[in-house]
Amino acid sequence: MSSNTTQTESGELNHIIAEARQDRERQEKTYRGRALKMFPKICGRCGREFSGKRVRELTVHHKDHNHDNNPPDGSNWELLCLYCHDNEHSRDQVAEWYDETTPDAGQELKSDNKPFANLADLLKDKK
Ligand SMILES: [Zn+2]
Ligand SMILES: [Zn+2]
Repeated sequence: MSSNTTQTESGELNHIIAEARQDRERQEKTYRGRALKMFPKICGRCGREFSGKRVRELTVHHKDHNHDNNPPDGSNWELLCLYCHDNEHSRDQVAEWYDETTPDAGQELKSDNKPFANLADLLKDKK
């Protein structure tokens, strides 16, 4: 693996996609950090409290399931532990909460995830 920079078109495209992903990851890291500072480190569902390393088990849930909706006052965020968050999403399979604990799963789905957010709401009604 050397830095072979032959610019094929698909190589360029991959590069763009990779950058877009990194942007998103960076963004998610940031809002997670902000949410953790803003709210008490307590799961909004089961009420467990997290501290130290265990804080990584706390994830940021978007109440409207739209990751791009990150108001500075945190009104679209909710801190949920991995288990409760998983529960919250088990109906719709939208793995929006992946973090350093979850590898790439869900990223392919996410590139344009707004339709999925709507779908999630539909599924939620049906239960
Ligand atoms: Zn919980
Ligand atoms: Zn969520």
